[in-house]
Amino acid sequence: MSDFNWCHGPSCHKSHTVDRIRGVKGSKVLRTRKVKLNNWNRNSFYSKFCSNSCYNEFANKYVNEITAIAPRTEALETPILDPTKERHSNSWHSWTVTNLEVDESRQS
Ligand SMILES: [Zn+2]
Repeated sequence: MSDFNWCHGPSCHKSHTVDRIRGVKGSKVLRTRKVKLNNWNRNSFYSKFCSNSCYNEFANKYVNEITAIAPRTEALETPILDPTKERHSNSWHSWTVTNLEVDESRQS
């Protein structure tokens, strides 16, 4: 297994940055960036993409294929206890906080 991945950004190789320049004089290219694998990115999408913009381009281009992996055909729900409202105030103003708590007894 290699210690890097090529960035999967569809147009990574089209970004005008000097670190992407490769090749000899007369036949220079802009090349897709390598993404070095490390403990920080090994199990995340950052192991396949050099930047958030490359990830976003990929996700936008392939959104239908990506969501087909795990389709969401109905809403998910998290059971909660009946919310309570709490009034707070200080010398300047007052506000209400709605307390939400997961109902662990109905949690699956
Ligand atoms: Zn990239």
